[in-house]
Amino acid sequence: MGPAQAPQWNLPELLHDIPARMAFGCPLAPYTSLRVGGPVDALIQIDNLEMLRQVLAIANRHEIPLSVLGGGSNMLIRDAGIRGIILLMRGAFRSYDLQPNADGETAVVKVGAGYSLSRLAMQVGRCGWSGLEFAYGIPGTIGGAMVMNAGTSLGDMSGTLVAARMLCRDGNVYNLPASALGLRYRSSSYPPGAILLETTLRLQRGDASVVNSTMRGAYKRRRQTQPLTLPSAGSTFTNPHGRAAGYLIERLGLKGTRIGGAQVSLVHANFIINVARATAADVETLIAYIRDRVQEAYDISLTREVRIVGEKG
Ligand SMILES: Cc1cc2nc3c(=O)[nH]c(=O)nc-3n(C[C@H](O)[C@H](O)[C@H](O)COP(=O)(O)OP(=O)(O)OC[C@H]3O[C@@H](n4cnc5c(N)ncnc54)[C@H](O)[C@@H]3O)c2cc1C
Repeated sequence: MGPAQAPQWNLPELLHDIPARMAFGCPLAPYTSLRVGGPVDALIQIDNLEMLRQVLAIANRHEIPLSVLGGGSNMLIRDAGIRGIILLMRGAFRSYDLQPNADGETAVVKVGAGYSLSRLAMQVGRCGWSGLEFAYGIPGTIGGAMVMNAGTSLGDMSGTLVAARMLCRDGNVYNLPASALGLRYRSSSYPPGAILLETTLRLQRGDASVVNSTMRGAYKRRRQTQPLTLPSAGSTFTNPHGRAAGYLIERLGLKGTRIGGAQVSLVHANFIINVARATAADVETLIAYIRDRVQEAYDISLTREVRIVGEKG
């Protein structure tokens, strides 16, 4: 990895008056589940909307790229890191409010973008609210889950999402209905550059013991079939046309294939694990290798689920 490039902007000075916790030139590896990623010019913990607006105004004025990192559980951040600002949604963005409707059969949950998806599923499930059973065990935040339309065979975000409130680059807050967000299999048409603040979800009254046993069962299967004790970014590729990407990769004998510190998991062939201080380049090369082998063998072009951002080292 080459020396980190000097930032183009004097961010400590530009951001000086903002009362947020921030770090400059901070490595992003600890903020991702794969434990890979070079430094970002400025990493800012945003606690409320006012603070966010201040940062956005500065970014707009100086044309500084700005994006959000959720739990970093679907990200491969390249070795030379990210120029500009990365936001972490904390404080007011890490809470939720559940209001049962008058019929007692449904409830509306407003949940901040920084809240843990899996924790929310567990908390509402304990109270017998159904709709998020699929989410228990999926790492990351509500923000990342909405953008990725996170899910499993039990369901996905599109099944509960009513609306999403976001701050757009023009400085305005919009509350868009789910129908405008184009949620589809592990993807959405989320407006580029918009910062998700909060989502509104609709849940149904269920039986707490059924909801909880569904979640426990799903989590048990997850533990048996996924390498949860090693750093990864979950499934590397989406499943092509109903075929399991992991099965296609496993059939080619690629389990255990290693490039540098990155390895195709022995437990689940669609997971790449960081076994020995992998660089992003190791992981990216392994991704390309798997994709090429699958293309050659089956004439199938795999689509990456993991998002790759940042600059090459
Ligand atoms: C062990 C493991 C198991 C997994 N299992 C599953 C699974 O069963 N199903 C599944 O769908 N996924 C799974 N994943 C992948 C991942 O957990 C999901 O995609 C998750 O929803 C990503 O959320 P995050 O907060 O970590 O998002 P990140 O990875 O941090 O970000 C994902 C994208 O969302 C954007 N984003 C995040 N927050 C905001 C915001 N507030 N405003 C605007 N943009 C935002 C980011 O910029 C980025 O483009 C798994 C991952 C791991 C490591």
